[in-house]
Amino acid sequence: MQKGKINVQTENIFPIIKKFLYSDHDIFLRELVSNAVDATQKLKTLANTGHFKDDLGDLTIHIEVDKKKGTLTVRDRGLGMNAEEVDKYINQIAFSSAEEFVKKFKTKTEAEQNAIIGHFGLGFYSSFMVSDKVDVITKTYKKGGQTKPVKWSCDGSPDYTLEDTVKKDRGTEIILHISKDEKEFLEDYKIRELLKKYCRFLPVPIQFGFKKEQVKVEGEKDKDGNDKYVEVEKPDIINNTTPLWKQKPADLTDEDYKNFYRELYPMNFEEPLFHIHLNVDYPFNLTGILYFPKVKKNLEVQRDKIQLYSNQVFVTDSVEGIVPDFLTLLHGVLDSPDIPLNVSRSYLQSDRRVKQISNHIMKKVADKLEELFKENREEFEKKWDDIKVFIEYGMISEEKFFDRGNKFCLFKNVENKYFTFEEYKDKIKDIQTDKDKKLVYLYTSDKDDQHSYIENARERGYDVLLMDGVLDSHFINSVEPKFENTTFARVDSDTIDKLIKKDDTETPSKLDDKEKDAIKPVFEKSIDKSNFTVIFDNLSESDLPVMITQPEFMRRMKDMSAVGGGGGYMGLGTLPDSYNLVINTNHDLIYKIAKEEDEASREKMARQITDLALLSQNLLKGEDLTKFIKRSVEIL
Ligand code: ADP
Ligand code: MG
Repeated sequence: MQKGKINVQTENIFPIIKKFLYSDHDIFLRELVSNAVDATQKLKTLANTGHFKDDLGDLTIHIEVDKKKGTLTVRDRGLGMNAEEVDKYINQIAFSSAEEFVKKFKTKTEAEQNAIIGHFGLGFYSSFMVSDKVDVITKTYKKGGQTKPVKWSCDGSPDYTLEDTVKKDRGTEIILHISKDEKEFLEDYKIRELLKKYCRFLPVPIQFGFKKEQVKVEGEKDKDGNDKYVEVEKPDIINNTTPLWKQKPADLTDEDYKNFYRELYPMNFEEPLFHIHLNVDYPFNLTGILYFPKVKKNLEVQRDKIQLYSNQVFVTDSVEGIVPDFLTLLHGVLDSPDIPLNVSRSYLQSDRRVKQISNHIMKKVADKLEELFKENREEFEKKWDDIKVFIEYGMISEEKFFDRGNKFCLFKNVENKYFTFEEYKDKIKDIQTDKDKKLVYLYTSDKDDQHSYIENARERGYDVLLMDGVLDSHFINSVEPKFENTTFARVDSDTIDKLIKKDDTETPSKLDDKEKDAIKPVFEKSIDKSNFTVIFDNLSESDLPVMITQPEFMRRMKDMSAVGGGGGYMGLGTLPDSYNLVINTNHDLIYKIAKEEDEASREKMARQITDLALLSQNLLKGEDLTKFIKRSVEIL
């Protein structure tokens, strides 16, 4: 037997591995299984290249728990190691990379530590996070020379033993003697959960125990004449070794993609709208499938659905910082050995390759959307309401995506007709241009609440856009400066003739300045709210006598702060809305009020038409509403 110290010059890293890595000890299993997969894949390569001529046989990797002995075993039939290789790979190389990891780890803050755990492959030595002792029993595939099977043992101190042993089969067996406070890893459910998480798509079959299955007995029926089934035990293979993203798109049907979506998200009952199959070799390696889900109002719950793999080994399902924010709304898998996983997240964000990959994904997403738009506009329009938030989010947050989205992003008007930016501009440019040659995009944020204003605009032949999505107020703010000579105005932000001012000629007023001054306090009294300003306007005779408008600028600032629009607008969310009470000085009723001499009936009339205006904006509530109803009955 050979005894030795792994590396006498360094301090004992084992206590540190145990102590510091405690919070994510789960990853040891991923590391051991992926080592077993590597060893198996290497042997397959040797067989393919003619260096290994024997029968490969069954290559299934076995995971076994022995509760009595307190061990967890990972066993492969890969290439194995001889004594010299154990010394080189386990005692020296693996140890020094574990040591390097611990050194790096110790210099980090706790937050940084959490970020690297699970993203930095600590490798073989991570098994000491959960074990008192680890045995490696291994036999090389090689013939002749030093080929005796060996057993390496280490009890979590730098001392190890290496001795000859008996092992019939080629390959490696890693036996973990699970420590007292890690007993959880001797529970079947826990191991199955971890295997399902990390190993679900590994390329070599992984067996964990057996499962019961009902199998039909051919040619036999039960006493009721139904098919007969018997229960049989079958190896429980944890993983799908040929996940869809590794297959050729040409060989796959739409149904295959949908089935795979169900496999990935068994708890998600909604079907995806469409998918993108990624497959890049150069200048980086990336495969994957991204699905477009229906995007809901609550954006946060939809995030963190993309799973990131490195050569089919699960790495993380939190891809923020790796792909642009808006892409995190997509579902699916990304697999790239080129995303450096052994570094912190802040490093990832500035990594050039990660940027390239990110840009590539963004480009593919834009390509797909453009293709769908071009190939079948009708279908695209049908899906629009479900993908709109996603596209708007991308266009708001990524300049490059804005330039692409320009071509397929749609506006929908209140008649449910869809237009590209270009088409819409053509539609309104001759009608909705004001005297300063500025294009005015009218929009509503609520078809019902702003109904009368929409009607007003439509009576003048204007078109009104429906902008009632969660991101629409943000979206307007971001496209407006990009469109030339354009303003967006909500239909109720001013009287319609002010919103699209065609010329400077004013309709004559039925009231002179003295009369206006006289009735202003009457209306101020009738509205009696500090966030209303009474103003006069010579609207047309057929317009309403009193209207309520909400100035665009103030409202936008409020909207922005409400959806967390940040920056200078912060805090405005608590401001009350500010409104204008617009008195139509060209209306007969207003004229009548001005001429009315009896103070009481003048006030009553003013109050009645003010309340009507409030009612039309859904602003008349409580006691005021009760009073209005009583007064109306009286008047009638
Ligand atoms: P890495 O996998 O990144 O090389 P590890 O610490 O996980 O680092 O493993 C160190 C080395 O030990 C591997 O590179 C490999 O040579 C050897 N090794 C570990 N597990 C096995 C195994 N099951 N079969 C053969 N060799 C193994
Ligand atoms: Mg490894």
